[in-house]
Amino acid sequence: MYFREPRLSVLARPAFTEPDHLPVQWIGDATDGERLAEFAGRLCYMSQKNPANRSTSEYLENIKKQAHGSVLEHANYTLLLEGVSRSLTHELVRHRAGFAYSQLSQRYVDESVADFVVPPAILGEDALEGQWRAQMEEAQRTYVALVEQLMARYAWVEDRVHRRKMAREAARGVLPNSTETKIVVTANVRAWRTMLELRAGEGAELEIRRLAVALIRLFKVEAPIFFSDFEVYEAADRRDAARSSYHKV
Ligand SMILES: Cc1cc2nc3c(=O)[nH]c(=O)nc-3n(C[C@H](O)[C@H](O)[C@H](O)COP(=O)(O)OP(=O)(O)OC[C@H]3O[C@@H](n4cnc5c(N)ncnc54)[C@H](O)[C@@H]3O)c2cc1C
Repeated sequence: MYFREPRLSVLARPAFTEPDHLPVQWIGDATDGERLAEFAGRLCYMSQKNPANRSTSEYLENIKKQAHGSVLEHANYTLLLEGVSRSLTHELVRHRAGFAYSQLSQRYVDESVADFVVPPAILGEDALEGQWRAQMEEAQRTYVALVEQLMARYAWVEDRVHRRKMAREAARGVLPNSTETKIVVTANVRAWRTMLELRAGEGAELEIRRLAVALIRLFKVEAPIFFSDFEVYEAADRRDAARSSYHKV
């Protein structure tokens, strides 16, 4: 199977429980994650009575403007990303602060049935895609042959699981960067915002940029106030990019 775009699933989002003894005068609609951040921010000055009569949207806008991003660290979102390449996740996991990752292991999982992600620049151009596909299929055939031979070479290893791992971890060396992978990513909103700002920019690699733009669209529905300042636009290269009003809050 060839992936032409990523598949995103939200696995977890904040569930805010307001303590009875410290009620906030909420104004306006907001998601649990956004209320959690406002609650945490208001605790600092014990301003639960909301003397400035700010809606959650206005309150969090000011937090972003003042770059008081630590308040945003309370809200965590967990996503399952599929249909992304190993080269994409290699770039993604460079974002360390506030992120947690769990990724499919090529040492344990049989990649003889692996899928591949068509690089965006190749999509829609038959000749390029044909050449690229031939290379993917050849690599997969070699992988299968290597696993088989390595299993035979290490037949003396009694533990079959260990033997398979030895074979797969060596054979994966021939798998291309475009091999599809799956990764569970948890991050707080401050960390998501910083990563999305960098990776949705015009200078980012096209596949991770496409993912970042898709994530921004998802987060604009999931937690619209947190991501209200992100704007998706069509860049000069005729592909979507995004920018935010507040740099690295
Ligand atoms: C367009 C683009 C091109 C890139 N090209 C390359 C490349 O060619 N080669 C390459 O190796 N990488 C490349 N990168 C990756 C880049 O160098 C960073 O590793 C990546 O963007 C993660 O950024 P970060 O370290 O700020 O993120 P995080 O690790 O999430 O850190 C977030 C912030 O926390 C603070 N922080 C985190 N760790 C520390 C620390 N140890 N000490 C002090 N402060 C810390 C910093 O303020 C940092 O900006 C590229 C990134 C982009 C967006």
